Amino acid sequence: MKMKPIPYGRQYIDDSDIEAVVSVLKADYLTQGPKISEFEEAFAKYVGARYAIAVNNATAGLHLGVIALGLKKGERIITSPITFAASANCARYVGAEVWFADIDPNTYLLSLEKTRELLESKPKGFFKGIIPVDFAGLPVNMEEFRKLADEFNLWIIEDACHAPGGYFTDSSGNKQMCGNAHYADIGVFSFHPVKHIACGEGGMVTTNSEKLFKKIAMLRTHGITKENMAQNHGGWYYEMRELGFNYRLTDIQSALGIVQLKKNVAGVKKRNEIASRYKEAFKNKINYQFLPKNSYNAHHLFVVEVENRAGLYEYLRTNKIYAQIHYIPVHKLPYYEKIGYSEADLSNSEKYYDRCISLPMYPTLNQEEQDFVIEKVCAFVES
Ligand SMILES: *Cc1c(COP(=O)(O)O)cnc(C)c1O
Repeated sequence: MKMKPIPYGRQYIDDSDIEAVVSVLKADYLTQGPKISEFEEAFAKYVGARYAIAVNNATAGLHLGVIALGLKKGERIITSPITFAASANCARYVGAEVWFADIDPNTYLLSLEKTRELLESKPKGFFKGIIPVDFAGLPVNMEEFRKLADEFNLWIIEDACHAPGGYFTDSSGNKQMCGNAHYADIGVFSFHPVKHIACGEGGMVTTNSEKLFKKIAMLRTHGITKENMAQNHGGWYYEMRELGFNYRLTDIQSALGIVQLKKNVAGVKKRNEIASRYKEAFKNKINYQFLPKNSYNAHHLFVVEVENRAGLYEYLRTNKIYAQIHYIPVHKLPYYEKIGYSEADLSNSEKYYDRCISLPMYPTLNQEEQDFVIEKVCAFVES
């Protein structure tokens, strides 16, 4: 049996995506046209947030998020070591310090208890905010983090880049979609092709606060507003009130995003079917990410833990299965190692990193391909 190479993640583009992009190319606006607000409205509705602001990538969205929340040079935030570097970098862009709290060894998410320990080890006011990450698509219980944040007077940015379509049920029985900004102040999503919704590059910031919404929308476009376009000025009049950026998404990308978003419900369902098949095959043999009850995992990734991780990685490659490692702990990256803010014990993250590997997970992975992956993983682990 001859198999095509199998990546760990893959975008799904069909004719409807292509048509949507082409129609923008034939219309009046390539950027700053009607597709952006259409995408923003559809996205806000999907996750259940009042406002959504489209940006050119999630890194930019995180950057605007920390500025809008007032993070300043020398102040401090807490995030998880098991995430992409951008979750931490956003604080560094404004000169703030990034401290890490350890993960839970079963869910691989930022641990509530470890975060509390770190907060309690310092005087109140030492930290300004928390950036929890819905790692692999598994929702952080934001209700619990909100209680903790309120105790210590912190803001929360939910890095929901892995989790459009994921949700948990809170203690009142309400369904809380990842990034709905109900308990968190701000949610951030990515539309990099390896994530659920592919725009080439792209991102979305969500919030329920009108104040944050206005601030982020203004910072996205150079800090410029036309709000005071009063009679005593003219139609051309605008004010630049703050030093902002050009962090806009284009109409071309937004048109693609609108079509991709529509397919996300089916995509996440398919991802969960794939996850169920992996779990069935690996039961009592191989460790995988624990799913707390009341949680629905959006499954950006399917992570397993094995003894000989490097061996499995190489063995799968010889079979043209391109598994990936998520992530090298952020505090172990040379840039962060050199700064070295963290005092906390991060041994769960380091142990996790020695064992983790992300198996192929994307909606178009077919059964034959998945069976091939399962066969190879089991053959290696049992040998
Ligand atoms: C991909 C990713 C980002 C950055 O997204 P971009 O759109 O590539 O800037 C941030 N955080 C996490 C957890 C991610 O996976």
